[in-house]
Amino acid sequence: MTGNFTARKVRVNGIVQGVGFRPFVYQLARRHGLRGEVANTPDGVRIHVEGFCRDIDAFRRDLGEHPPPLAQITEIVDCPDPVDGYTDFSIAASQRHAARSTLISPDVCVCDDCLEELFDPRDRRYRYPFVNCTNCGPRYTIIEDIPYDRPATAMQGFTMCRRCQAEYDDPGDRRFHAQPNACADCGPQVALYDRRRRPVAGDAVETAADLLKRGKIVAVKGLGGFHLAADAANAAVVSRLRKRKNREEKPFALMSYRLADIVRYAVVRAFEQELLTCPQRPIVLLEKRTPNPLCPQVAPGNRYFGVMLPYTPLHYLLLGCGFSALVMTSGNRAHEPLAIENEEAFGRLSDIADYFLVHNRPIVIRSDDSIARIAAGAVRFLRRSRGYVPAPVFLKTKVPPILACGGELKNTVCLSAGNRAFLSQHIGDLENPAAGRFFEETIAHLQRILSIRPEIIACDLHPDYLSSRYARRQTGMRRIGVQHHHAHIASCMAENGIDGPVIGLAFDGTGYGSDGRIWGGEVLIVEGHRFRRAAHLAEVALPGGAAAIREPWRMAVSYLYAAFGNGFRDLALPAIEKIDSWKIDGIVAMIAKKINSPATTSMGRLFDGMAALLGLRDTVSYEGQAAMELEMLAGADRAAAYEYEWTGGDVRVVALAPLVRQVVCDIENGRTAAEISARFHRTLIELFTALCETIRAESGLKRVVLSGGVFQNVRLLSGFVRTLAQKKFDVYTHKKVPANDGGLCLGQLLVAAETAARKRLRCV
Ligand code: ZN
Ligand code: ZN
Ligand code: FE
Repeated sequence: MTGNFTARKVRVNGIVQGVGFRPFVYQLARRHGLRGEVANTPDGVRIHVEGFCRDIDAFRRDLGEHPPPLAQITEIVDCPDPVDGYTDFSIAASQRHAARSTLISPDVCVCDDCLEELFDPRDRRYRYPFVNCTNCGPRYTIIEDIPYDRPATAMQGFTMCRRCQAEYDDPGDRRFHAQPNACADCGPQVALYDRRRRPVAGDAVETAADLLKRGKIVAVKGLGGFHLAADAANAAVVSRLRKRKNREEKPFALMSYRLADIVRYAVVRAFEQELLTCPQRPIVLLEKRTPNPLCPQVAPGNRYFGVMLPYTPLHYLLLGCGFSALVMTSGNRAHEPLAIENEEAFGRLSDIADYFLVHNRPIVIRSDDSIARIAAGAVRFLRRSRGYVPAPVFLKTKVPPILACGGELKNTVCLSAGNRAFLSQHIGDLENPAAGRFFEETIAHLQRILSIRPEIIACDLHPDYLSSRYARRQTGMRRIGVQHHHAHIASCMAENGIDGPVIGLAFDGTGYGSDGRIWGGEVLIVEGHRFRRAAHLAEVALPGGAAAIREPWRMAVSYLYAAFGNGFRDLALPAIEKIDSWKIDGIVAMIAKKINSPATTSMGRLFDGMAALLGLRDTVSYEGQAAMELEMLAGADRAAAYEYEWTGGDVRVVALAPLVRQVVCDIENGRTAAEISARFHRTLIELFTALCETIRAESGLKRVVLSGGVFQNVRLLSGFVRTLAQKKFDVYTHKKVPANDGGLCLGQLLVAAETAARKRLRCV
């Protein structure tokens, strides 16, 4: 028996437009012998189906269980509907206004069906570098405006040929309404040029591959910007790339054709394999194999490689020419945003790249590769960008339209609509005019395609951040300043959907405190719009300000001076003895006379200082380098903690002098740096866990939230997660946005929303 003939209405919300959802519904309904229609709505899609109960139930089940790969369903609601007497099933035309406020899909990697066509000599898209369908391809980086229709994308200049148009119009086709649909007859093309912009003869991709094999550097136009490509097994070319890019040691990202290539140079565990092969295709940090066939210049002094699989058909064609791995580093000069236009690339990259593999599909907005790793049993983002943006983070409650401007380094911005928080792609360090322009361009772009007009603007308290200055310039919006570490903890609370009060451990390099001083090793009690500083690291001098960040040896001197006074000059410390004594005199004088030596409670600087004290490095060529090396060096995890203490009652101060004295004692006794580093990590974990226990005893709080860039340290993160759980705390960590300043805007947004809600209540 099939039951009664009936009708039902089904509403599906989430990312269900531009991802082949309507054709999927169409085919599913037909398969189950149902009639009715499917239409786009402002929130998602609406389906009306008529048929026998049993068939409708089966349809409803398949709808939720096997959606198209790119769809992200947030809600399915269904209810009975009157039978209208449809004679077949159809796709209703989009209403123009309807597409506003729906979710736009991020860019995703080429799908298996398209890949098969790419390498099938009988297929009409054989070796066509822009093959795509509704299940795959570019989205965010080609959209100029909404509704998401071809004329509002980077494809507007390409008129579909007869065959492409037929696919586009056929609801039964994989390319029904695929906006970037194209083929070699009608779509974008690749071309190869030398650095003087002279075209190079022959097949562009194959010739580029030959040049790479001969040790040339090729700028390759990708999805969200240019990459600089080089053969990762060729030491000479990788060194040349470092020199030309002015990038001394920061690891280069790698791309390999398939997993089988990656496992030859890196360790790939099950979770990591899943992350590598997911359609977002982030760069995944993987432990190096030693020895490995790649040249050491790829990631000198680092235990990890950053590796991704190809994500565009062009990548597949290029990598398929027989490379075990290509360096694929972002096509920019140090600290500048990624180049995206051909002219721009020729201009800016011509003294770095030997050749340019370009194409004529414009990139509307740049989007850097995302970077993630598996740590403490979950995916951890170091950078959330291409592949994930603009998919929202869902909030627990609805909030007003807010623009949160983020911090200064690793900047991202965030816009809210209802219970959705849309984080931007990685914008980068706002230290130069180009990055500043990209920041404003991204805000305008996001507002346009998400159709959001913010009423509130949230920013960091630091008066000189470019993002804060931008916020001050805006009119017609209420401005709410949010303390940096408060925002870090709120960010982690937002993605975990929890309310305060909580104990927040906010550990990072730097952030403007409510007292105008430089914070960074903070224990905060956070409850929505407000927080209380419960504890922090003891203050030490930052001799020379920013110079102390670039030169960790200055921090070593600062901690030593704080612990021993001038007596530290008599200690037998090889790391200090090798530094010119006049330089140390200078630093000591700065600290003693408080000249250009602001006080800081920074956890990041403590790691830098330790690294320098152990002789790991005196100077760094990128932020966090010394701290990372200290982590990578750490030996067995069973190391005993040092003794620790804190003072004070209301706001506790963690003493650092005893820690520094014990470390010095270990150095003098000939203990290895690996052992000392392990003890240092262990001490922080036990110390702050004990602090949390004290706070719990006083307040009853048992939820601990971990945030801030220092939690990119895997040993620290997993140590805290384990130890706090053993002590029966509920521990919350970042899994959706970065723990570093790349996730800051989300916290700013949440705090601003709660501040606004509070004020409104008071008015009532
Ligand atoms: Zn596809
Ligand atoms: Zn065509
Ligand atoms: Fe921070």
